Amino acid sequence: MSQPSCPDAEMYRAVLSALPDAVVVADSAGALLFCNAAAEALLPGGIGGIGGIGGIGDHSDYQVLDQQYRPLAPSDLPLGRVLAGQCLHNKELILAVGSPPKTRWVVCSGGPWAGGALLTLRDISAAKQQEASLLQQAFYDPLTGLPNRHLFIDRLGQALARAHDEPQNIMALLVIDLERFKIINDNLGHKVGDEMLVELGARLLSQSLPEYTVARLGGDEFAILVEDLDSRASAIDLAEKIYAIVQQPFLLQQQQVYASASIGVALGPAAYQNAADWLRDADIAMYQVKARPDQGWHVFDSSLRVQQDLRVQTEIDLRQAIDRGELRLHYQPIVTISNEEICGFEALVRWQHPTRGLLLPGEFIHIAEASGLIIPLGWWVLAEACRQMQVWTEQYPAMAEFTVSVNMSSKQFSQQHIVERIQQILDETGFVANRLKIELTEGVLIDHSDSIIATLEQIKALGIKLLVDDFGTGYSSLSYLHRFPFDCLKIDRSFIENADQDFEKLEILQSVVRLAWNLGLDVVAEGVETPRHHAQLKALRCELGQGYLFSRPLAPAAVEAMMTEKTTPLSDLPAVTQPT
Ligand code: C2E
Ligand code: MG
Ligand code: MG
Repeated sequence: MSQPSCPDAEMYRAVLSALPDAVVVADSAGALLFCNAAAEALLPGGIGGIGGIGGIGDHSDYQVLDQQYRPLAPSDLPLGRVLAGQCLHNKELILAVGSPPKTRWVVCSGGPWAGGALLTLRDISAAKQQEASLLQQAFYDPLTGLPNRHLFIDRLGQALARAHDEPQNIMALLVIDLERFKIINDNLGHKVGDEMLVELGARLLSQSLPEYTVARLGGDEFAILVEDLDSRASAIDLAEKIYAIVQQPFLLQQQQVYASASIGVALGPAAYQNAADWLRDADIAMYQVKARPDQGWHVFDSSLRVQQDLRVQTEIDLRQAIDRGELRLHYQPIVTISNEEICGFEALVRWQHPTRGLLLPGEFIHIAEASGLIIPLGWWVLAEACRQMQVWTEQYPAMAEFTVSVNMSSKQFSQQHIVERIQQILDETGFVANRLKIELTEGVLIDHSDSIIATLEQIKALGIKLLVDDFGTGYSSLSYLHRFPFDCLKIDRSFIENADQDFEKLEILQSVVRLAWNLGLDVVAEGVETPRHHAQLKALRCELGQGYLFSRPLAPAAVEAMMTEKTTPLSDLPAVTQPT
């Protein structure tokens, strides 16, 4: 840019060239009169771009954009506005320089000067970048780069605000939770777990249009907000698509890893005043999938809220149930398959609810698990089972060898001093350790994979037998059997149920029994309901069985009646509790 000469020009130029801000002076026609060094660096094509007629050449190498990155209208360009008599105060603008354009943020101030215009521009790109990275940290998840929970809730709020103007719009909020992500993290390492989350984020984006908001709410929970749907069916379509893409194997460090998701959908906006309620309902729907995972997604409806209220009330009542003595144990006989003699019981908890009657575990165990109440409940069960068995041992000589199996929850294994606690119960009740069996599901092993072996060994050292419950319903069942010190394996009833029709199930059943033998484990078959089941298990030479064919779980009085009368064939005993 050529500089006009004027008195004291040297001094002005020296002062101005030392200034970090760009200074530009134009005449009343918008032609450049003066610019300092910073202006030359900042406005590579002259002042044409900011609304003057330019300096060198007749085009500019940059474009001026507003804060939304839209080009300014010619009448809004800074120089033009000042020449039209306006003053500018710290107006933030963006210069897009070169091709492909690099953006620089500037603040521009200016006003009329000597019939023309004086403008200053300061490059604030560094400060803006810092601000953006702070924003990024505050509102985006560093692992996946997706919006985080804060930003997502903010977007939900904005969507609700917009929805007031167009209440007929259908919006969908999907909450997506990976199933058993912890297993992957624990077994394959956090690095693989992280890779999986990144890949999942990318897959969710691939199913989304640009106007959807895809966020990571935390851990293995993601969410999608869709603001403009044509129907409820398209929300379900999206949920199904997402369910399907999560099922596809993830290739992580050269291994194929399979995952699944629970997807809760809550449709808005009409029902919602605030984002928190909306998110809560999507969560409720998601938990519905976890409770009954027959399909991978569930759409919230208000009956779920009634269920949720019942759940909350059940939790409140359950807190008092132990102290009020409302819990009961029923005892289901375990028999030898070969001659149908009872050799022990499984103790199963029931709750004599003051208004709802006798409740089965299916109605409250999951609530006890989720709320942590399973811990006091579990200890009560163990103590009561040992106490009752000891009383019976003294009362009925025939029961002297009977064992009792007690279910213990994974949550109990998060506690300290669990072994001492078990020992204390045995001491206090006088029940001998070698007649006690503890039933664990694979969940316990998964939740505590590092620490559990030592605890299990200590429990075994007391003389207690350890049993894997519901075998065959969990994950990598076979590898667990090798790693953990079990004595016995209880085959889930789903295997027994179908083994008489489904040849494949029968094969599996057969190989599980054989595998157990090879590992030196006893086998108990659960859910023996028909003479055919019984015959099949006999043929497989499975030792022990438990099921409605032999007896339902019995209240203590029914056990006593059976022991006194002795003659009652087990299968003719009255049903004391309803089947689950
Ligand atoms: P589980 O440990 O697998 O117990 C066996 C369940 O199968 C019992 O259900 C029993 O009544 C049922 N069952 C037994 N034979 C048959 C049969 O022939 N056919 C059918 N269809 N079902 C049969 P229940 O008593 O409803 O208990 C359900 C689950 O609740 C138990 O499954 C166990 O996981 C849990 N549970 C029960 N008591 C406790 C407890 O004291 N502590 C913990 N942590 N969980 C418990
Ligand atoms: Mg059990
Ligand atoms: Mg079981």
